[in-house]
Amino acid sequence: MTIFTKILKKEVPVDVVYEDDLCMAFRDIHPQAPTHVLVIPRKEIPSMAEIRPDDAVLLGHLMIKITEIAAKLGLAEDGYRVVTNVRAFGGQTVNHLHFHVLGGRPLSWPPG
Ligand code: AMP
Repeated sequence: MTIFTKILKKEVPVDVVYEDDLCMAFRDIHPQAPTHVLVIPRKEIPSMAEIRPDDAVLLGHLMIKITEIAAKLGLAEDGYRVVTNVRAFGGQTVNHLHFHVLGGRPLSWPPG
């Protein structure tokens, strides 16, 4: 079980910005931009490397919600970044699929 399962069970407090029966979005504890939200499925999928065709509806739902959350948080006009880190070389530290939504300042590219 990861820290994100504990967050989903409300055993660890977070600043929730959205939740429904499939997902939760909350503010990252170590924000890398003025707005930094994590969007996670309730289903325990370790990373994008483990998604299956059966997860297509769930993944589509997450993408739609990311767009809605970014708009609600005022990021849509200037733009923002959606990132998912995968395993060690991707820089993943929590093995529960999550999408970072970062905005509120210009973001450089390429990443380090
Ligand atoms: P990653 O490195 O892509 O696996 O991202 C994991 C993210 O989870 C990091 O940005 C952490 O700052 C964030 N994080 C870890 N624990 C918590 C927590 N208790 N509440 C909010 N964000 C967290």
